[in-house]
Amino acid sequence: MPEGPEIRLAADKVARVLVDRIIVQAELGLQPLRRFEKRLIGASVTAVDTRGKAMLTRFDNGLTLYSHNQLYGKWYTTRRPRVPDTGRQLRVGLHTETHSALLYSASSIEVLSERGLSSHPFLNRIGPDILDPALTPDDIVDRLRSSTFRNRALGGLYLDQAFLAGIGNYLRSEILWAARVSPKAKPTRLDAAELRAIAKETLAISRRSYRTRGVTAPPKQAAERKALGMSYGQYRFQVFGREGLDCYECGTAIDRQIMSGRNIFTCNYCQGTPN
Ligand SMILES: [Zn+2]
Repeated sequence: MPEGPEIRLAADKVARVLVDRIIVQAELGLQPLRRFEKRLIGASVTAVDTRGKAMLTRFDNGLTLYSHNQLYGKWYTTRRPRVPDTGRQLRVGLHTETHSALLYSASSIEVLSERGLSSHPFLNRIGPDILDPALTPDDIVDRLRSSTFRNRALGGLYLDQAFLAGIGNYLRSEILWAARVSPKAKPTRLDAAELRAIAKETLAISRRSYRTRGVTAPPKQAAERKALGMSYGQYRFQVFGREGLDCYECGTAIDRQIMSGRNIFTCNYCQGTPN
């Protein structure tokens, strides 16, 4: 599933063709939404925001298109009248005079009023967005210390969108390794320096992944590996997907376990065992 940085990159792409443009044609593939097609025509898009893995396309008539890609949803942008060569089902088509933004295969799509937006169950449940520029390490330390989250193992916490919105499976492995903490550790048992390291790496790695289109390894290390001929899939991560390969820090074989139903990759030497 795409994580916060991938959704934000998709939102940037959609924003480039839609923001400040007037919608001249609208297609909503899900039957209950068809009645909104006419109301989107003539409206202009004011912003394309993200909240974790949800995208919010905002119109100047007060309506907002909420979309959550889940596993299969994918946005394309094209110059009109081109459409992507795909067997996927069109769920949303927003067309300006010159461009199209097209969402395929997603099933979680709604058109919301201001009131619907403020009472939306998912948007109300999720925590702060990891890519929100206003989010600080102190905010994350406060959440780690809060009674809601402090007694939960980090491995589970780092997939819970109520803790922080936008973190998913690869970010979880990469952040916990970079912070040198075990996914089995609970915040309540960690000291201030460890909590600070987790908070710092959470922001640094999420923001780096957005900036670099999915590379969580530090830029210098990624460049060195690339120069050695490694593919994008090989050089982008420090631990994720590297089961059995040497830890870049200590040489121990990277371990894979299932935690909260998903693969998590760790170095059991660097990240130790929880106390
Ligand atoms: Zn290691």
